Amino acid sequence: MKRIYSSKTTQYLGKKVKVSGWVHSIRFHGKIIFAGLRDEQGLLQMVFTPKNKQVYEMAKELKPEWVISVNGKIQKRPKEMVNPKIKTGEIELLADEIEILSRAKTIPFPVDTDGYEIDEKIRMKYRYIDLRRERLKKNLKARQQTIQFMRNFLIEKGFLEVETPILTKSTPEGARDFLVPSRTYPGTFYALPQSPQQYKQLLMVSGIEKYFQIARCFRDEDPRGDRQAEFTQLDIEMSFVKQEEILELIEELFISLVKKIFPKKKITKIPFPRITYEQAMEKYNTDKPDLRKNKKDKNELAFAFIIDFPLFEWKESKKRFDAMHHPFTRPQEEDVGKVKKNPGKILAYQHDLVLNGYEVGGGSLRIYKPDMLEAIFEIMGHKKEEIRERFGHLLEAFEYGVPPHGGIASGLDRLLAIIQGEPNIREVIAFPKTGENRGLMMNTPSEVSKEQLKELKIKFEKKK
Ligand code: ASP
Repeated sequence: MKRIYSSKTTQYLGKKVKVSGWVHSIRFHGKIIFAGLRDEQGLLQMVFTPKNKQVYEMAKELKPEWVISVNGKIQKRPKEMVNPKIKTGEIELLADEIEILSRAKTIPFPVDTDGYEIDEKIRMKYRYIDLRRERLKKNLKARQQTIQFMRNFLIEKGFLEVETPILTKSTPEGARDFLVPSRTYPGTFYALPQSPQQYKQLLMVSGIEKYFQIARCFRDEDPRGDRQAEFTQLDIEMSFVKQEEILELIEELFISLVKKIFPKKKITKIPFPRITYEQAMEKYNTDKPDLRKNKKDKNELAFAFIIDFPLFEWKESKKRFDAMHHPFTRPQEEDVGKVKKNPGKILAYQHDLVLNGYEVGGGSLRIYKPDMLEAIFEIMGHKKEEIRERFGHLLEAFEYGVPPHGGIASGLDRLLAIIQGEPNIREVIAFPKTGENRGLMMNTPSEVSKEQLKELKIKFEKKK
């Protein structure tokens, strides 16, 4: 017989089925044994009676989390046994055959609670067990539905999904790069992308007018609470667009996402407010204002766009200007003349998307004139040769016919954590690292063999 999901058994009243899964619970009720069977889709109550001696004796031995297959007949539960909390609460399976597929040690923590009460380090070490928890399964599903929705929405609008390299060259997004040593060319390194920024701009030069990617990004930032060194963005770039068109696309995308996938949620204000950076700082003293009407309402989503950011911010530690977003951001038309004279005063075509007090997206129109890009890099203290060496490919590409373009990227981890009402982004990531960038399940980062180091021609200095 073919195995079916527990959730499907409701359609088999009076019929024989085969189900497989984990022993969720066991209860002796006089001579009768009740056991819960858990599979990906939910729970099913199984009943073992002494009438069927062989099966009954086996059932007596069952322990939580053993993996079993059971054959039996689906029958209605007696009225007083009905459990309205679960899908299969009106039925049960009267077992007449059982197969033990694997046994299990006692698991390190319960999986029938929401899990917040358990030390997170232990949950992360045994993440494969932690993920048996219903709450985390729901989060993974919400994540998949969100990504699927975004993908369909954009493809329908004529966007092309393009994968860009993971082994690449440093792109300045304001963080440190993760480096990967090259074995073939000792002494040289790839960088993991902080974002696909340069590739997506190069795709505009290629004539891909509407690009998107569900992109993994890597930033070696100092451990800072609720961040991950690798994270996922919905990355978008478009040619021949005005800034407002980018905002409208994102607005439509998020409104329809919430409507379709998270219908219980209420968006505070439509269209999303557009607030200038100056207004935000003046009124809320932050560029990520929380605009919810009722902060206790877990179903409220207050989106807003922050626009008109300064192009540069003064970095006292470096004694120079740095790009507020990234150096590819285009200065506003009226301010172009001021670029060299008064860099601190220039506004940029930059836009951030904020949600309930968090930044969940950011982007800009880009500079597409090579001399303007060079001028911006120079203000940020880069020498001409260095600019050519690091960004020559982009400057050169822009000499072969580049359309005006712009885009945005939205961090999916944060977005999902907020929508799912989770206290941190680790709850919506299947295998997250700790705030200190450690993977506790596989123990990463970890040492590598001498042979691997030798091949890479890497030697460590002796500790002094
Ligand atoms: N690459 C930018 C980021 O990761 C987003 C963008 O400008 O499109 O923040």
